[in-house]
Amino acid sequence: GSFEELGVAEWLVGACKELGMRHPTPVQRACVPQILKGKDVLGMAQTGSGKTAAFALPILQRLGENPYGIFALVMTPTRELAFQISDQFKALGAGVHLRCAVVVGGMDMTTQAQILMERPHVVIATPGRIKAHIGSDPDIAAAFSKTKFLVLDEADLLLDRGFQDELQTIFDGISKQRQTLLFSATMTGDLQALRDLFGHRAFFYQA
Ligand code: AMP
Repeated sequence: GSFEELGVAEWLVGACKELGMRHPTPVQRACVPQILKGKDVLGMAQTGSGKTAAFALPILQRLGENPYGIFALVMTPTRELAFQISDQFKALGAGVHLRCAVVVGGMDMTTQAQILMERPHVVIATPGRIKAHIGSDPDIAAAFSKTKFLVLDEADLLLDRGFQDELQTIFDGISKQRQTLLFSATMTGDLQALRDLFGHRAFFYQA
């Protein structure tokens, strides 16, 4: 199979090639076409399966068509993962002036607030820090109100770390018109509760 066959735009197929990605992985083959169709996706996928590109490619493709406001918010449990995801977005989006911001704890709140007010296309964040921004600044809350994609990466770890309250604030604060994409290595009882977030348009992927 090829990325073209999944409906991935030529410029992104080129970016994949530059990074040595010639053939989609199983999670990419299953999920990329569904995300491009506009479906919510709940995918069981481990680190190393290629799940980051499975959500980054369709997000970048839609972004290339209509880059308006903060386009995507990616929630991830750790700072390290946030930077890894950011690196993949930047690598795949290198040709299109992608503005990508990492918003995690341990960094200056004021500087982060200024970055968010410049409306980066993609925000990759840990839940505590993004809740602090959305909860304390109505302008920042407004900047997220039209977000097109919400990604929950490593959702099992997000829940294990007790981020339920933070996630709820974020679900309530961002557009209901968004697409929601959830990836998790396991399907725990807690995650079943999150299935409520997904409409009947949802696509479920399990390897
Ligand atoms: P992830 O599961 O998202 O943590 O990705 C693991 C690694 O696989 C990353 O370093 C990606 O750059 C790489 N990768 C993702 N998709 C592909 C692909 N289709 N072909 C080759 N490498 C890939």
